[in-house]
Amino acid sequence: MTPSLNQKRSQQSQHIDARRRHHILAFVSYITSAVMFIYGFKNLHAELWLLPLILFITGSCFLVNVLVYQATKKLQRACTIEALLVGAFVLSLVYQGGHNNTALYWVFPFPAILFGLLGVRHALISNAFLVLTLAVMLFTPDLILAEYKDAETSRFLASLIIVIIVCWINDHYRERSHEAMELLQQSKELQANTDALTGLVNRRFLDSSLLPALAQQSDEFFPLAVIMCDIDHFKRLNDQFGHDVGDEVLKSVAHLFQQNLRQQDIACRTGGEEFLLILPHTSAIDARKVAEKIRLQFPQQRWVTNDTNYPVTASFGVAECNQTEQFYEAVKLADQQLYQAKHQGRNQVCG
Ligand code: GH3
Ligand code: MG
Ligand code: MG
Repeated sequence: MTPSLNQKRSQQSQHIDARRRHHILAFVSYITSAVMFIYGFKNLHAELWLLPLILFITGSCFLVNVLVYQATKKLQRACTIEALLVGAFVLSLVYQGGHNNTALYWVFPFPAILFGLLGVRHALISNAFLVLTLAVMLFTPDLILAEYKDAETSRFLASLIIVIIVCWINDHYRERSHEAMELLQQSKELQANTDALTGLVNRRFLDSSLLPALAQQSDEFFPLAVIMCDIDHFKRLNDQFGHDVGDEVLKSVAHLFQQNLRQQDIACRTGGEEFLLILPHTSAIDARKVAEKIRLQFPQQRWVTNDTNYPVTASFGVAECNQTEQFYEAVKLADQQLYQAKHQGRNQVCG
C-alpha cells in the first residue's frame, strides 16, 4: 500500500509536536526578551556595564531569531539557534553574576526550555554540557567576574542537576507515552479500515484515508485507474458448496489480487463479492491489461470447491480518473462497465 497513507497519522503527531515547539519558541523569545529588556533598563545605572549589555544583546537576538522564524517558518533551525542563545546567556550571566550576584536563580528555567526546544536526546546532551561548564566556572572562581559563596555554588549545582533529571524523566516518558498512544490509534484505525475475512482494506478506508491522501499528494496518484471486480454467480457457489467454502473463495480471490498488483496499488473489498482495485499512475488501457491478466488467472486457481467442473470466474469494469473530485465518478463509471460485462455474458473486462 502507498507509504503516504501509512504516514498520515505520524504526520499529524509531528504537526502537533511542531505546534508545541512553536509555542515554546514564541514564549521564550517574546516574554523572556521583554523581561531581559526590563532588567536591562533597570540596571543601566549599574557600575558594571556588562549586565545590561548581556541582557540587551540576548533579548535582541531572541527577537531577531523569532522574527526570522516567522518569516522563514524554519522551526528546527530557529529552535537550535534559540538553544545556543539560551546556553550563551546562562554562561555569560553566571560569569558576570547578575544584579547583586543573583544570577544563579535565573538559571533554573533554562534546562526545561532546552528540553522543550530540542527534544529529549539533544536537550540532555546540551544540559550535561551546560552543567559541566558551569561546574568548571563555579569551582574555578578566577575564571569568572562574579563572587559566589562556596555553599551557594554546590547547592546550586546539586539542585540544577535534580531539575535536569526530573525534566529528562518527564520528557522521556511523555515521548514514550505519545508513541504508545499513536501505535494504539494506528492499530485501531487499521482494524476499522480492514476487512476481517480477506485482510484487504474496506470501503471505510476510501473516505478516511484514500481521499485525503489523493487530495494532499495528488502527484503520487494521478492519473489513476480503478477496476471494479465482481465474482460471477457467487450466490450459486454459496448455495452449492456452502457459505464457508464461499468465504475461502473470497480469501483466495483477495490473494490473487495481491499477487498481481504492485506495491503501490490498493485492493479494497467494497461489498460481499465485489472488489475495487486502485492503480496509481496507470491509464485505463494499462488497467484493462491488468484486469485481463487477473481474469485469465481465475480458471487456473485451485479453488477450495475442488470441483473442476465448477468454474469460478469474475467480471471487470475499468475507468480512469485524473483528479480527486472525479474519484467516485470514476468508480461509478467502472461499476457501469462491470454491469455491461455482466450483461454481455460475464467473465470479461469492459471499459
Ligand atoms: P452475478 O454474477 O450477477 O454477480 O451474481 P452473484 O450471485 O454473484 O450476485 P448476487 O448479488 O446475486 O449475490 C451475491 C452473493 O454473495 C450473495 C451473498 O450471499 C454472497 N455473499 C456476500 N457476502 C459474502 C460473504 O462474506 N461470504 C460468502 N460466503 N458469501 C457472501
Ligand atoms: Mg457477483
Ligand atoms: Mg455483486
